[in-house]
Amino acid sequence: MELTLVILYIFVFIALLLGVVLYFYLRKRKKINYLLKKINNLYNINEDDYQGKMKLLEEVRNEVLKLSEKNKNDTTYKNILYLTENIIKELQFAKRFKINRNEFLGNVAHELRTPIFAIQLSLETLLGGAINDSSVNVNFLNKALKHTKRLIELSDDLVTISRLETEMKLSKRYIKINELISEVVNSLSIVAQKKSLNLDFVSEIKDSLQVFCDAEAIKQVMVNLIDNAIKYTNEGGKIIVKTTKEGNNVFVTISDTGVGIPEESLPRIFERFYRVDKDRSREIGGSGLGLSIVKHILELHDSKISVESKLGEGTTFRFNLPV
Ligand code: ADP
Repeated sequence: MELTLVILYIFVFIALLLGVVLYFYLRKRKKINYLLKKINNLYNINEDDYQGKMKLLEEVRNEVLKLSEKNKNDTTYKNILYLTENIIKELQFAKRFKINRNEFLGNVAHELRTPIFAIQLSLETLLGGAINDSSVNVNFLNKALKHTKRLIELSDDLVTISRLETEMKLSKRYIKINELISEVVNSLSIVAQKKSLNLDFVSEIKDSLQVFCDAEAIKQVMVNLIDNAIKYTNEGGKIIVKTTKEGNNVFVTISDTGVGIPEESLPRIFERFYRVDKDRSREIGGSGLGLSIVKHILELHDSKISVESKLGEGTTFRFNLPV
């Protein structure tokens, strides 16, 4: 009889224990379901309502924070906290991306406006009678042509940026770097000569040395850097392109004796549309996108570009390419 009682007590005890465990388990599940449902409510908020989404996520984060502090050994709450924080980061990233995109579109519109208005003005002046005035008609046509070229330059650079941003596949192979650079230097020497600039290529590496890169993209890098050196160096100046080898890298330097870049502008020159002297740059041409394209291409080659400059003395750009 006594044994039956003991067994009964044990059963009751086990049943109570199971009941308590089940109660806590269900309570926890209810909380987790509630939190996940709340996170799911994100999809019911208007896509553009950043504040609303953020408010909801912060509420969830605060609730989970409290719960995970109370239940320090419970990994479920930690995981929900991790999930919530990741969604917050994604949302902040998307917001920043949207702001950057809008800024970029604003800049593009602004850059397009100047040449379009100049072309319109030239054409209107010609149609208004200047076409019959032989002392000015050619000037207005040349002005329209110059601004048309600017538009073409800008649209070419925009196409390049868009290709780079959409992860255009680079076709990398082993290239004789001296050959590639000589080709670019030769093609630009006529432009340099027109400005009485001395453009030289000096190499401290073997001509047979190959680097692993996308030839067209690296040509574009060289064109942009040498073209800038030509644009920002006064007549009679000197531009030296140099290749050296350090460890497993070929270093390419482009130095000029040009106008130089003020120290405070150095960290910004690789930004899109950043120009040290806006009027001067526009006057001598250039979309303001050249260096940002250079940086982007080099990043796709795991390479970094550095710049040193002194106002009135000149500028040196330097980057590496793996051998
Ligand atoms: P841009 O089309 O105006 O040349 P870039 O992106 O190529 O645009 O260059 C950004 C700015 O950096 C230029 O507007 C110019 O002010 C400055 N810069 C670039 N290269 C040189 C250089 N070699 N010497 C002096 N300034 C330079």
